[in-house]
Amino acid sequence: MSRSVLVTGGNRGIGLAIARAFAEAGDKVAITYRSGEPPEGFLAVKCDITDPEQVEQAFKEVEEKQGAVQVLVANAGVTRDQLLLRMSEEDFTSVLDTNLTGTFRVVKRASKAMLRARKGRVVLISSVVGLLGSAGQANYAASKAGLVGFARSLARELGSRNITVNVVAPGFVDTDMTRVLSDEQRANIVAGVPLGRYAQPEEIAASVRFLASEEAAYITGAVIPVDGGLGMGH
Ligand code: NDP
Repeated sequence: MSRSVLVTGGNRGIGLAIARAFAEAGDKVAITYRSGEPPEGFLAVKCDITDPEQVEQAFKEVEEKQGAVQVLVANAGVTRDQLLLRMSEEDFTSVLDTNLTGTFRVVKRASKAMLRARKGRVVLISSVVGLLGSAGQANYAASKAGLVGFARSLARELGSRNITVNVVAPGFVDTDMTRVLSDEQRANIVAGVPLGRYAQPEEIAASVRFLASEEAAYITGAVIPVDGGLGMGH
């Protein structure tokens, strides 16, 4: 059956691969974007997840045009890397506001209809860095670790209503976010990855689609690493 899916930050990178995976499976897919021209083939709604009003408007539009959100993928995220002593208050709070509080905003809004329907799937995109740590990314890692506690709390809170909440923790993925790294940084990262390469966005999307499928009905509160073995043991 075709479901109503919403992917935040679905206009590029991992989010776009996730949106395509659901669309290929026959679901109705809405994506959020902030500026420019969104990709074709989806219901594109403009939304900055740091603005509660825009989140509300985006959900209203999705509900009107493709029905209440049954599968939410909270993917939108940013980095603002800096060593601790150089990290400004703004560097820290802006990353938390997008990655963690922004996710809170969209999940809270989506949960209303899911609670009413007594069914729903929520997948949060965290990162291997959330549990492994990363020098120069204290803000980002804190936000991504926060998603785990957030998801596991909601798994307990919403489980009796047949709503699952899971986390996918990608390793290094070939997108705009990692293209800013130097060749040397990339080589160092790959040296620590047992599979010896970056992931393609589609490899993250496959796990997300699985977690939203009927086959995954008994999985909730899980953190699924898709990291080529980089974070093993965490
Ligand atoms: P990109 O930088 O390619 O894309 C980020 C996406 O998030 C864009 O769609 C962007 O929208 C959106 N976004 C950022 N801030 C906001 C905001 N305030 N409101 C709404 N949308 C926003 O990143 P990736 O595709 O690589 O990353 C996607 C997710 O995966 C992120 O959460 C990231 O942390 C996580 N991740 C990525 C890894 C990687 O190696 N690439 C590894 C582990 C996790 P816009 O186009 O408007 O800027």
